[in-house]
Amino acid sequence: MALIVQKFGGTSVADADRIRNVARRVVESHRAGNDVVVVVSAMGASTDELVALATDVSENSHPREMDMLLTAGERISMALCAMAIQDLGVSAMSLTGSQAGILTTSVHGQAEIIDIRADRVRAGLEEGRVVIVAGFQGVDPIGKEITTLGRGGSDATAVALAAALGADVCEIYTDVDGVFSADPRLVASAKKLDEVSFEEMLELSGAGARVLMARSVEFGRRYQIPIHVRSSFHDGVGTWVKEDVMEEAIVRGVAHDTSEAKVTVHGVPDKPGVAAGIFEPLAAAGVNVDMIVQNVSIEGVTDISFTVPKAHVAAATEITESVVASVGAAGVDVDDNIGKVSLVGAGMKSELGIASRMFRVLAEHGINIEMISTSPIRISCVVRGDDVEAAVRSLHDGFRPSAEPEEESNV
Ligand code: ASP
Ligand code: MG
Repeated sequence: MALIVQKFGGTSVADADRIRNVARRVVESHRAGNDVVVVVSAMGASTDELVALATDVSENSHPREMDMLLTAGERISMALCAMAIQDLGVSAMSLTGSQAGILTTSVHGQAEIIDIRADRVRAGLEEGRVVIVAGFQGVDPIGKEITTLGRGGSDATAVALAAALGADVCEIYTDVDGVFSADPRLVASAKKLDEVSFEEMLELSGAGARVLMARSVEFGRRYQIPIHVRSSFHDGVGTWVKEDVMEEAIVRGVAHDTSEAKVTVHGVPDKPGVAAGIFEPLAAAGVNVDMIVQNVSIEGVTDISFTVPKAHVAAATEITESVVASVGAAGVDVDDNIGKVSLVGAGMKSELGIASRMFRVLAEHGINIEMISTSPIRISCVVRGDDVEAAVRSLHDGFRPSAEPEEESNV
């Protein structure tokens, strides 16, 4: 008998039929003799709809009330799931994040889980119940305020809860079959991956692969909780995300991200303290800076470009414009027609020449590279937004991350 945490995303609980389908799966696992904790997201696009409704009511920002509003989405699906499970003859109980003991920092809309006091969850399990926990939310134990964990946060709830409970596995049920070697909507030959290491998945999530929130992967790695990403619509095996994988890949997958924009500060004096003068106020304002590139300086003057989520562009522009004078720069430019394409694979650590091959593939397709950044197992290039799809396709073609080893040796 195992302890399993099962998380169902928004599309998996989008309507009454699907909620009954979730209940059927949960009850199957429970009847097989497992202890089951369920984490649910809000139904379908309801979080987006609540955000839109709030914007309709008020143009101003209301971080506390936004969290009160958005946490209602997960409360609806948790209660409906509990009802559907009870109808199948299994005792079930739903808990809000706060009731489940999910303690977070106090930052509304972006809170981080600091501890989980899962006594009520454990008590429910001991009574033989399925316990359903609302994803994406918690409570700040000091201010007693309700918080949310950021979009997609139910993944983090699920894996953190699995860690706190010492679960054997965390299953993430979603509307795709698993983690793919590239976005299958762009690349017809993209394949579902059997296994991805935590390290690779962290990079893939950070590079724009949407299937798992990066923070949930961090929890999985830190507490060694294997994550099984699988479809909620059929019983097939999905992708296992875990520490050790059977086969090392030089390139496991191609990820892309069109959610960022590029900010360039022109005519920056090339001297100590200037970069700090630009990035300190950005950090203080919570602007999430991703890639940073500083150009070669000519006659003591240079350009610094960086990328930020499109949602942070307004704040980033305002802040950099306000420091232009104090750092002695010439001006600020924003470009939101960019995209980032990345190759990720743990085998890159020991393989030379992957970056040069990547640049060659892009060059052969007439795609210009604007920024480059690397980690030991990732290479990312910023290209024109309009070039992203072609870049993903040509890189997937060029590196064939999902090809079977036999096929490769025939080439
Ligand atoms: N409902 C929240 C969102 O849409 C959290 C989640 O789905 O994980 O972002
Ligand atoms: Mg969602």
